[in-house]
Amino acid sequence: MPRPLYAQINLAALRGNLARVREKAPGTQVLAAVKANAYGHGLLRVLPALDTADGLALIEPDAAVELRERHYTRRILLLEGFFSESELPELAQRRLATVVHDMEQVRMLEKAVLARPLEVFVKVNTGMNRLGFRPGDVAGVCQRLSSSPSVAALRLMTHFARADEDDGLHEPLEIFDSACKGLNYPRSLANSAGVIRFSEVGGDIVRPGIMLYGASPLPYDTADMLGLKPVMTLRSQIIAVQELKANESVGYGGTYTASRAHRVGIIACGYGDGYPRHAPNGTPVLVCGRKVRMAGRPSMDMITVDLTDVPEAGVGSPVVLWGEGLPVDDVANAASTVGYELLCAVAPRVPQVVSEVGGIDVEL
Ligand SMILES: *Cc1c(COP(=O)(O)O)cnc(C)c1O
Repeated sequence: MPRPLYAQINLAALRGNLARVREKAPGTQVLAAVKANAYGHGLLRVLPALDTADGLALIEPDAAVELRERHYTRRILLLEGFFSESELPELAQRRLATVVHDMEQVRMLEKAVLARPLEVFVKVNTGMNRLGFRPGDVAGVCQRLSSSPSVAALRLMTHFARADEDDGLHEPLEIFDSACKGLNYPRSLANSAGVIRFSEVGGDIVRPGIMLYGASPLPYDTADMLGLKPVMTLRSQIIAVQELKANESVGYGGTYTASRAHRVGIIACGYGDGYPRHAPNGTPVLVCGRKVRMAGRPSMDMITVDLTDVPEAGVGSPVVLWGEGLPVDDVANAASTVGYELLCAVAPRVPQVVSEVGGIDVEL
């Protein structure tokens, strides 16, 4: 008998979320962000549902190479670019588009002799202050790259630090526009929050990530309000029930003490599976489709919940940690983090099962 914990991956939901991106940002090219193993969903597993995207955007060169080896033919963009000159021949051979964000990369491209020139996204720093050229340097960089034989085509891009905040776009958009004035290359600005706010952000190429997986990029709009459906549902079961007496505690550190006698459900899922250990008492969990509350500290292999409101629950009762019926954003809020972190953290020991339309489950 397998441990009852698994992540169900709903490809129909992913297709639907991609369709939402198309509705929000009509006429743009969509590069689906699939870094971190498609935000924990399994890159190769979700690929069939991304077949209408114009390409993929990721961080890991190895994953990009593997996609080419598996005959993925559309565009692939490396979001942090290359890290050393020695990677450039492989980028050329594999037709990988690259971000260029600093002068050292410009010099490497100018020096390189490549079998095939590259598609290059010049990254403008509009206030995030991680990667990117200062606005005043952008025109000069484009000038140099456009005359380099290593460069086939240029695009201009930026990544917003506060695209999820009402007043977070105005200033960086101004900086971007003035940095790119007179430069007639296609532009890529929007992550998921930017796609939702596409009428303000604009651009020719969008790079949605989290919304494809059915979580909300915005603090005040739920995924449901945005028409997004969860792709991952993390499912388990109750594997034991304890009858607590008043004043008894549960779990390591005794961080939960019952004020009255009640039942506690023990669920097979813990931080060793990627569930956040810092999720406090009260964090929501679904048992038999009903919302219950965490009672006690998550341990490596188990969490514990108050079953007072679900008297019918017992050993074997179905549990949803997040996904269908319980948005990952709700769990993330309770645990003071973001849906992104929870999805990315699902551990390799958790089996993933793809559910296709028609309800047939295929184990990969
Ligand atoms: C991860 C990433 C994205 C996607 O961001 P979401 O918020 O998940 O939509 C877009 N652009 C860049 C540069 C990224 O690193």
